[in-house]
Amino acid sequence: MVGSQSQSQSEAKGKLYIIGIGPGSVDHLTVKARDVIMNSDYIVGNGTYLDQMARLLDKQEIVRSAMGKEVDRSRRAVELAQNNIVSMISGGDANVYGMAGLVLEVAEHADLDVEVEVLPGVTAITAAASVLGAPIVNDLCTVSLSDLLTPWEVIEKRLDAAASADFVMSLYNPKSRQRKSNFSRAVQIIRRHKEDTVPVGLVKNALRDEDQDFIVTTLGNVMEYNEWVDMSTTILITTNDSHVWESPHGKKIITPRGYHRKYDY
Ligand code: SAH
Repeated sequence: MVGSQSQSQSEAKGKLYIIGIGPGSVDHLTVKARDVIMNSDYIVGNGTYLDQMARLLDKQEIVRSAMGKEVDRSRRAVELAQNNIVSMISGGDANVYGMAGLVLEVAEHADLDVEVEVLPGVTAITAAASVLGAPIVNDLCTVSLSDLLTPWEVIEKRLDAAASADFVMSLYNPKSRQRKSNFSRAVQIIRRHKEDTVPVGLVKNALRDEDQDFIVTTLGNVMEYNEWVDMSTTILITTNDSHVWESPHGKKIITPRGYHRKYDY
């Protein structure tokens, strides 16, 4: 149980939860996350995430913050958590390119006595994978193509290393208004190592009710969909062992775990 407003005020004992709210709809929120959000004194988040959780927000105080104001938002959350139950909400999982890192860094530097608990959520890669069938099921790595906080040379090095080891690769943050060419540059690097026949899935707004859309293609053809890719898209580039099952209910990408080496089926 998390404390109610009256409890937290009388005991002046706060707590900060950093909550991964999943890919979008409340249906994919964990039961624990839902319980904590509903019983918090304050909910801190950007407008998009607060809107996604609107159904659960009736009595909590809302601290709405803009994109790009993450440091201010984190400071505010840490300060409020001295005496209140505060939930900082973060899309997908709070660890995967999420708010957990920054909030903990800010809490460490603020040198305040604040108890922090991170609650996990469904991240974009697993949300996207579920839409495509079974494209992961083996060793994988994620790379963010955003060079706002990571130098592009580092991103290129990681793309090259992951592709050369034939990991399943998921690309987060493939595009923004300022960074239109990062996706095509990433594909060029990956094609140095992986075969052109490798199945690729592109998923937009995974598990966000009516906004979800996806494409199944190959590494050799993926640039045909360059214009379709936007900042709400995750791209899964599978392995030289993966294939597409043309099922009666649509295409499913399958990356084998290796059972076929041991069993007949
Ligand atoms: N913490 C988030 C990721 C934040 S980075 C998580 O765990 O999912 C933002 C990027 O995540 C987006 O640019 C996009 O690549 C991806 N993303 C987030 N939600 C998504 C969704 N519902 N469908 C597809 N991609 C998504």
